Amino acid sequence: MKDLYSFHAGKEDLDNYYQKVITAYKKIIKRLSLDAKITEAAGGAFTKEYTHEFQVLSPAGEDTIFHCAQCDFSQNKEIVDTSKYRNVEMLKCPRCGGEIKESRGIEVANVFKLGTRYSDAYGLKFRDKDGSSRPVIMGSYGIGPTRLMGTLVEIYNDERGIVWPESVAPYKAHLLEIRNLSAGRQDEKLEIRKKAEKIYNTLQKAGVEILFDERDASAGEKFADADLIGIPYRLVVSEKTGSKIEVKARNQKNVKLVTLARLTNQLAN
Ligand SMILES: [Zn+2]
Repeated sequence: MKDLYSFHAGKEDLDNYYQKVITAYKKIIKRLSLDAKITEAAGGAFTKEYTHEFQVLSPAGEDTIFHCAQCDFSQNKEIVDTSKYRNVEMLKCPRCGGEIKESRGIEVANVFKLGTRYSDAYGLKFRDKDGSSRPVIMGSYGIGPTRLMGTLVEIYNDERGIVWPESVAPYKAHLLEIRNLSAGRQDEKLEIRKKAEKIYNTLQKAGVEILFDERDASAGEKFADADLIGIPYRLVVSEKTGSKIEVKARNQKNVKLVTLARLTNQLAN
């Protein structure tokens, strides 16, 4: 968990900061290529006010949320079950009248107003303008990095493995050196190794994060592992690719043969 706490002299200051954190969290989640519904939830022991959960829709989610198809309205099941419009079968959004949908969600972040719960318990006070001693008002905010990683895999995958979005991929390109393991010609193997090393070094110098598979493994094994790991671009050098490099995006079917200069240009951007 990435935790954040804020400390305030007044409720208005907490409210402003709370909104700022929501905006920042939205931005972070968007940059991770995810889309989260900001969902009202019950504060439990901490607060009578609603808290907010960032819920990514996925059948793998452990939470049930009710959200509007037209506006930002979204509530956790716990609230919906206790509120009055549950009786009208939740057909319409209380905010805009739009259709309400029921979905499973993965909670990747949450924010809540702690108020004075902990400052009261620990005697955390400050002296205000008038010189009187008052408890500090607190907010609490958390993002689950490991949860986010699991969520990304739930959302971005196919039958062969992970399909990392570029923004979060551990490497941008995965270079596979394909040598014919049974063939006897040593000079040919050396030539492919040299070529692969040149590509690796050129791309690294250009600032491209690249993973190099130079194992003594079969082509089939390397292709399957590349799909499983899910790096955005697969690069292949073999006897067949000649002076060029075969490129395939993990989320596309077609392959292309390109020169090293062109490839470097494309990937370095
Ligand atoms: Zn609505």
